[in-house]
Amino acid sequence: MISNNLDSLQLDKFPVIIFGSGPAGISTALELEKKNINSIIIEAGNENYSEISQDFYKGKIIGDQIMPLSESRLRQFGGTSGLWGGTCKPLEDYTFDLWPINNNDLKPYLERACEILDIKNQFRKTFINKSFSQIEFQTSRVNFAEKYKNHLRGSDKIALVLNTQLSYLVGENNNINYAICHSDAQEKKIKGKYFILSCGGIENSRLLLWTKNKTPGLLNEKLPIGKYWMNHPHVLGGRGILSRKKFENKMRENFLGFTDLTFIATTKKFVNEQKILSAYMYMLTQDVFRNEKVIDKEVVKDIMCVAPKYGEKLIQTFHKESFRCVNINLLLEQEPSEDNKIVLNQNKKDKYGIPKVKLFYKRSPKPLKTAKVFLEEFANFCIENDLGRIAIEENIFNLEYLKLVGDGGHHMGGTRMGNDKKNSVVNSELRVHDVNNLYVNGSSNFVTGGYTNPTFAIVQLAIRLANTISNSIKKT
Ligand SMILES: Cc1cc2nc3c(=O)[nH]c(=O)nc-3n(C[C@H](O)[C@H](O)[C@H](O)COP(=O)(O)OP(=O)(O)OC[C@H]3O[C@@H](n4cnc5c(N)ncnc54)[C@H](O)[C@@H]3O)c2cc1C
Repeated sequence: MISNNLDSLQLDKFPVIIFGSGPAGISTALELEKKNINSIIIEAGNENYSEISQDFYKGKIIGDQIMPLSESRLRQFGGTSGLWGGTCKPLEDYTFDLWPINNNDLKPYLERACEILDIKNQFRKTFINKSFSQIEFQTSRVNFAEKYKNHLRGSDKIALVLNTQLSYLVGENNNINYAICHSDAQEKKIKGKYFILSCGGIENSRLLLWTKNKTPGLLNEKLPIGKYWMNHPHVLGGRGILSRKKFENKMRENFLGFTDLTFIATTKKFVNEQKILSAYMYMLTQDVFRNEKVIDKEVVKDIMCVAPKYGEKLIQTFHKESFRCVNINLLLEQEPSEDNKIVLNQNKKDKYGIPKVKLFYKRSPKPLKTAKVFLEEFANFCIENDLGRIAIEENIFNLEYLKLVGDGGHHMGGTRMGNDKKNSVVNSELRVHDVNNLYVNGSSNFVTGGYTNPTFAIVQLAIRLANTISNSIKKT
């Protein structure tokens, strides 16, 4: 059922209270429903977009500027899936090197995650050479509010309560007893057995920080809540001209073919040998292949600067051969740093008196070094195999973040997973250290960000979390 009113529910029927109705919260509720377990989803926002609700998401960014915090997430039913791009793929095995779990722990949930996201379970990867693989993403068109609205309306196992925000949690002796929520001007207490924060990659930290403030002694003082925050710097790396025929021939059965976008990613070997981070590049072939006869003068100008003779040859043969101009963008891993963190801004509070967030964020030089090494290696690969020429953007050479396409809106870290309480907030089951019945759901749990867009793994982790809770309920 979907309601605006907590009072209409018989709360003791619902052992699990989930806060947030984005991909993380809804995926967990759907999986619990399959296991015959009732859950309530408490959602701060309304069914549709509202400026008033969105205003709660305003926050200050100190350091390198990224997409404003009120624009890179949606505070409404369905969460940020109302504006995401839908690019999906599981994380790479080597992304888990510093995590307390590995990809095998998430594989059992791969098929179900594809169902939830309405995508094919096909994520091929082919080896190009020791440095690169071609990778495959699927594109999900799922807006969680649109897809699951009718299902939730008809469900007697999931109750979605809109326009009600979690403000903080109260408990003692390592247990949460109830949540303090606000709906309009009213304060409500919600009791439950299991509490799950699924409020996104910034609010999860904010709510834990505010809980620490309001309920002293409940959370371990040492937990690094809000720290090791990450995103994916996204840069224009360069432009080039490639021979489609030669590219395909070179890779033969190792090539998945050109689709709208062609994705090429670092291999673990390349990352380790070069001491760089992981990254993927995508070539915007669609724009270019649309009109086979068009030669992009800007690209040729760039190529003439780095390889004048080759540029001449290109102009002469462009129309005879199947050359294509490409823009090369890169999505880069950003390594975790304790200094990139979410803190409470005591000078700016929302209408319920809860401090808004301050995000301290500085990009390190390592992602840009990664972009440079990646592009040089790819440019050499093109020269050695006579596939074409790549002109790398000048700012990448100078290691300056000038042509930033964005940060992907991927908010990761803040409640990172781990076994050591000094540098993690939740354990490998996503339970907050030293609290028996409080869990965190979403990319705030990521230990490292890898290069992959996060939501597919968020959904896998959310299904796994439902299984963890179900097993715990069975035991009691
Ligand atoms: C422009 C853009 C493009 C993107 N494209 C991609 C992409 O192509 N691929 C990809 O993998 N990812 C993409 N993402 C990221 C993706 O949107 C997020 O990873 C995903 O939405 C996170 O899901 P979530 O459920 O953890 O959080 P959210 O989707 O943010 O949901 C959080 C929910 O919690 C609610 N909430 C917040 N505070 C409270 C509170 N106090 N009490 C109760 N409820 C609360 C919110 O209203 C919201 O419904 C993109 C993001 C942006 C901004």
